[in-house]
Amino acid sequence: MRKKNLIGLLPSDIYSWLEEEGEPSFRARQIFQWIYEKKADSFFDMTNLPVALREKLDSAFSLGSSQIKEIQKSKDGTVKFLIHFPPQDNVEAVLIPHRDRRTLCLSTQVGCPAGCTFCATGLAGFRRNLTYQEIVEEIWVIEKETGMTANNLVFMGMGEPLLNYENVHRALQVINSPEGFRKGARRMTVSTVGIPDKIVKLGRDWPEVNLAWSMHAPRDELRNLLIPLNKVYPLEQVLRAIKEYLAVTHRRVTIEYTLWNEINDSKEDAQEVAKLLKKLLIHVNLIPGNLVPSSAFSPPSPRRVKAFASVLEENGIQVTIRKPRGQDIQAACGELYRIYG
Ligand code: SAH
Ligand code: SF4
Repeated sequence: MRKKNLIGLLPSDIYSWLEEEGEPSFRARQIFQWIYEKKADSFFDMTNLPVALREKLDSAFSLGSSQIKEIQKSKDGTVKFLIHFPPQDNVEAVLIPHRDRRTLCLSTQVGCPAGCTFCATGLAGFRRNLTYQEIVEEIWVIEKETGMTANNLVFMGMGEPLLNYENVHRALQVINSPEGFRKGARRMTVSTVGIPDKIVKLGRDWPEVNLAWSMHAPRDELRNLLIPLNKVYPLEQVLRAIKEYLAVTHRRVTIEYTLWNEINDSKEDAQEVAKLLKKLLIHVNLIPGNLVPSSAFSPPSPRRVKAFASVLEENGIQVTIRKPRGQDIQAACGELYRIYG
């Protein structure tokens, strides 16, 4: 019989298994602790479990399904991991230590169907959704490898999280559960290109999880060029969903705006962005684009970035200019994946 992977399994599934095996339910808590806190290598290390239970666990379950295939360290401390899920899929995850924060950037799909023309993942096409267990395992395998505990999670790696809603939802359950990774929902951010009904659903299901929206353009015509999926979910529909999300959660939404030279970075563009976002509970992150081979776009000069930010500020909008991190290790999402497939 093929063993089931225990990492990332919903707590309710572990409780059911213990019940079927005639084991007391309090064993679950001990097992969770061995997996998520102590990162045990084997069931036989779980010394406070009876030997018979360790043997039963070992014949029913495996601990993890992935291998770290490559690690790249940047001068600025950012570390990028290529995680291999057999038989043939690779995804990237990035650890960004900054002061007392250890942010882990997670993938939700192998490739991405949105096809953004500036994004290495989008240009590589789409293979499949990650399962909820695989999403959880990204955290487990990296914490195990580095000995660090991530205290901030961002779903900003490969893939569009809201096009894999059910698996992201279940992964959040395991990550947030006192019987899982015990990580606080307020320390998690889901970044989306904008899937209207799922934005509202996320607000209802997870009102404490933060939302980031990758806006990138204030007009459909321009946004279609950068984000082909905008033809399916145009700006007006996404903005309406964001407003509904705000009404449900009252949580500030982060607007991500990647700047590309003479494409979406003029003062007029900034005026239009300000007009659309005025009076909303938002914060804008301006990100000078990271150059991706075979993409037609390049980042603007710092002067143009500042001018864009000033227009937003003059309109009363909170703005942060983000420094690209890990540039020497091609930390823009999906770049290692493009090399290894
Ligand atoms: N699919 C989701 C989350 C993953 S992408 C989304 O698009 O929001 C995470 C962020 O990286 C997005 O804001 C995306 O626009 C940005 N990104 C992708 N490629 C980039 C590049 N080459 N330079 C700068 N930002 C990039
Ligand atoms: Fe997908 Fe996000 Fe990349 Fe667009 S930017 S292709 S939505 S991962």
